[in-house]
Amino acid sequence: MSLTEYRRKRDFKVTPEPKGARRSAARKLTFVVQKHQASHLHYDFRLEWNGVLLSWAIPKGPSLDPSVKRLAMQVEDHPLEYGGFEGVIPEGEYGGGTVMVWDRGTWDPEVPDVDAALGKGELKFTLFGKKLKGSWVLVRTPRGWLLIKHRDEFVTKADIVTEQPRSVISKKLLRDIARIHHGNVEKAAKGDPA
Ligand code: MN
Repeated sequence: MSLTEYRRKRDFKVTPEPKGARRSAARKLTFVVQKHQASHLHYDFRLEWNGVLLSWAIPKGPSLDPSVKRLAMQVEDHPLEYGGFEGVIPEGEYGGGTVMVWDRGTWDPEVPDVDAALGKGELKFTLFGKKLKGSWVLVRTPRGWLLIKHRDEFVTKADIVTEQPRSVISKKLLRDIARIHHGNVEKAAKGDPA
């Protein structure tokens, strides 16, 4: 059921009745990949689920080559608002360094029950990002999770993290973000292409 009929019958400029928030089920689930130059460069891959961002740290970043399995260490859930964060975490703080919104968009589960799939350790999903598109899987192994591209029209041998190093929201490199936000430019630049 949607609220279309409820809303059609009412003029919310006149009645004090609630219009109703956008139904979470109707809103697309979001995902974000944040490139993070902390003590080591990594890519934080985050999927919106149950009101939080499930999060994995991927040292080498995602690959569009299905033969490449990228280690993805699950880390603590993050708040949804974190997905918009681009800037500098002060040195000495947890994760101190520069953060870029490297990709973002929406995602669809390819399974009927996401919680069951996560529990089983195999989540198939489709990404609708600027850089990452198509079908993927996260598989849990004794060493950690693996992020793997499925075969589809978006597969390529090209190294997307090298070829598309810029922020999707500001078009900036890590060193630019560090400079603007008064971070460590030299350290941030280590995560940029030479
Ligand atoms: Mn991180």
